[in-house]
Amino acid sequence: MHVYTAPVVVPIAGEIIREGAVGVDQGRIAYVGPADDAPEAEATTEFDGVMTPGLVNAHTHLCYTGYADMHEGEKEFFEWIQEFARRNPANTDEEWKAATRSGIDQSLRAGVTAVADVVTPAAAFEPLLASDLAGIAYWEACFIDDDSWDERRGPWREVVTENRAVNNSAIAVGISPHTLYTLGTGVIKALVEHARTLDIRLHPHLAETGHEEMFVRGGAGPFAFMNRRMGLKLQLGDGGAGHSPAAEMGKLDLLGGDVHVAHGVHLDKDDRALLREKGTAVALCARSNARLESGEPPVAAHRAEGNPVAVGTDSRASAPDLDVAAELPVLRRLALAQGDDGEGLNEWLFRAATEGGAAALGRTDIGAIKAGARADLAVFDVDTDKNPYAALVGSAAGNCKATVVAGRLIEH
Ligand SMILES: [Zn+2]
Repeated sequence: MHVYTAPVVVPIAGEIIREGAVGVDQGRIAYVGPADDAPEAEATTEFDGVMTPGLVNAHTHLCYTGYADMHEGEKEFFEWIQEFARRNPANTDEEWKAATRSGIDQSLRAGVTAVADVVTPAAAFEPLLASDLAGIAYWEACFIDDDSWDERRGPWREVVTENRAVNNSAIAVGISPHTLYTLGTGVIKALVEHARTLDIRLHPHLAETGHEEMFVRGGAGPFAFMNRRMGLKLQLGDGGAGHSPAAEMGKLDLLGGDVHVAHGVHLDKDDRALLREKGTAVALCARSNARLESGEPPVAAHRAEGNPVAVGTDSRASAPDLDVAAELPVLRRLALAQGDDGEGLNEWLFRAATEGGAAALGRTDIGAIKAGARADLAVFDVDTDKNPYAALVGSAAGNCKATVVAGRLIEH
């Protein structure tokens, strides 16, 4: 057994422990409690700072880690999203793999030990499934209308099947139907059916922009124009559905306990109630929303209503880094500006970034320090005299000094 001690341990599963210890045996947590009572160990590592479960990035695209210049750039959403279609075909498999590896390294350095990763090129599966990360690699379907699905369906299914077959990692394979404005209705239905047949999880983008709402409700706006320009014929482009994107996803059976959605910026009370009833969590990505001027997610409403939420960075094409902790002060500011009274807010946010992410991915073995869980830990160099949740939300960003992933220690 290897015992790690810290002045403060925040297990998430249970009370905060002062002068705490976590014992790790064969990649699993074997002990959590006071350092004085820790079992006999072959090795002990003493950390300063606050020890927490590894963070869960509940929405990212690690294959786009090489597109950081798109975050720095000025392109607004409509131009920004079309940039992917222009750039992607030029990348070699080696470039995709290198970008994904870089994203994995940046995640681990930030104390992130699990991801909900949207995989666009098939080549990106390999580094992800070979990594120590836990989570789900969601194979993405994007820019496909019903007319071209017949031709795309076969190879698309093969990638899911092949990667599931070779996979013996802690990362499961899932499916990401990109959005309602980039896929035909028949394509979405087929993807949902395929996922349910294979018993794998789904992760679409939902209600990210006002333009998405315009397209789904009325078949109008910039995305209708974009689809005409790309020759993509979607049913919603013909007059729209007359209801919200969340309602449309409900209609297509693309909500449920086996689904979590990214963004959820434009969700009204009824939409949020629908997601809550379906058991569908929202991965909040506030910094990406700010960069793309998509709007502000309803953080205070989610907390007041008790909705399941998680935290994601989104990709480096719209976020300044892959540091989940850096999302937390931004979400806190939004919640307070939206009328949250702040009481217990720091704890709620840190739970969203750990156990909330785990729940969004349907996992019970990550996101908390408890006996039997995967040994995924993060140590942050933050003030140990303060309330630990306040210290973490206020200053964990950029201050991860060690990560333990599946029992392997990485010091930064
Ligand atoms: Zn995304």
